[in-house]
Amino acid sequence: MAPLKRLGIYSVRPDLTTPWAKDHNLAMESQDAVVIGAGVVGLAIARALAQAGRDVLILESEGAIGTGTSARNSEVIHAGLYYSKDSLKARFCVEGGRLLYDYCQARGVAHQRLGKLLVATNESEMPLLEKLKQSAQDNGVEGLQDLTAAQAQSLEPDLFCLAAIYSPNTGILDSHALMLSLLADAEAKGAVLALRSPVVGGALSGERIHLRVGGAEPTEIEAGLVVNAAGLGAWAVAREIVGLPPAHIPHCHFAKGNYFNLAGKTPFSRLVYPVPGHAGLGVHFTRDLAGRGRFGPDVEWVDKIDYRVDPERGLAFYDAIRSYWPGLKDGALEPGYAGIRPKVQGPNDPAQDFVIERAHPRFIGLYGIESPGLTSCLAIGGHVARMAAGA
Ligand SMILES: Cc1cc2nc3c(=O)[nH]c(=O)nc-3n(C[C@H](O)[C@H](O)[C@H](O)COP(=O)(O)OP(=O)(O)OC[C@H]3O[C@@H](n4cnc5c(N)ncnc54)[C@H](O)[C@@H]3O)c2cc1C
Repeated sequence: MAPLKRLGIYSVRPDLTTPWAKDHNLAMESQDAVVIGAGVVGLAIARALAQAGRDVLILESEGAIGTGTSARNSEVIHAGLYYSKDSLKARFCVEGGRLLYDYCQARGVAHQRLGKLLVATNESEMPLLEKLKQSAQDNGVEGLQDLTAAQAQSLEPDLFCLAAIYSPNTGILDSHALMLSLLADAEAKGAVLALRSPVVGGALSGERIHLRVGGAEPTEIEAGLVVNAAGLGAWAVAREIVGLPPAHIPHCHFAKGNYFNLAGKTPFSRLVYPVPGHAGLGVHFTRDLAGRGRFGPDVEWVDKIDYRVDPERGLAFYDAIRSYWPGLKDGALEPGYAGIRPKVQGPNDPAQDFVIERAHPRFIGLYGIESPGLTSCLAIGGHVARMAAGA
């Protein structure tokens, strides 16, 4: 019996059986809306669709929710300082950050509004600091304050800088508690999660979409709406959907971000970020809800998914960190974990926006949902549900 059939949440339509399904002796299963991927973004989309009255099935290739990029990030609720005006990143980060604080408060998801210092550590960075503040204000980021070096150091005595911007609304959260809560909301409205159910292919066919689901007991699903929120796997999923025009599949690049943990007491009580670099926000200091400090992520362009952290990369961390924390002692850093940014931007390209597009009336694809995707999840969920309402 097919794994989804055991869940008893779909109607079986033998009349719709395709050649592939016939070969595998399967009946076609019919579903209103399918979300591919149970990361924080897929779950937020599933929640929004279910709350809008759709029957939602979430297909996740792994054996648990949130084991991809959503488990491998800084868990920072960003204020929206970095993104160009009118971009989806700017819009969803500012809106999503507000929604997320309200949501965490209402649902008891652990979080702390720690505040963040964005620092310039040499004269050449000063104009960039001013530019970032201007663009942040253009994006509707509230509460930013210019700090002199003395003011910044009165907040964080171990910090070195020439000047800083203080962002009081930057914070941290428990991303796993958030994902569990989003799933619970979606399930309360009838959504169903199918684990170990990788989407391995499909076809656009007239008004419907057929999906092939692999795993131990393969099955085939006919859906009225498919949302591809497979993160790093989104491009592979899209390429396997017959009939999806290649022009609707953007470029795909992976940029690994390695973290190093700090052994011992943390130097700062707030988050500390240097001015951003190309393709990343610079090797910054964040802490988790337990108060443990870590530095990263750096930027390492990669071709495949490998989360091991090369201890050799730690050498570059010491120089980068000492630009704003001269007190860092030799040997204080230990290899931590890594995440991989799903990027539309390549190594030599300017920054790119999130890509969220309807390539077909029944297919919405999300690509390049890198930072600030966690912060933006609720805003993205609402956006996709509104797009779907027209489907
Ligand atoms: C190093 C790093 C640091 C970051 N820090 C922050 C931060 O501090 N704040 C912030 O706002 N954002 C941050 N981000 C971005 C944020 O983590 C992501 O935008 C967000 O987690 C993306 O969620 P997602 O659901 O799109 O992807 P994912 O969490 O990767 O979920 C995709 C899911 O799809 C599943 N899947 C893949 N292929 C298939 C398939 N064929 N069939 C079925 N399922 C499939 C995967 O198993 C996975 O569970 C960071 C990202 C990185 C890499």
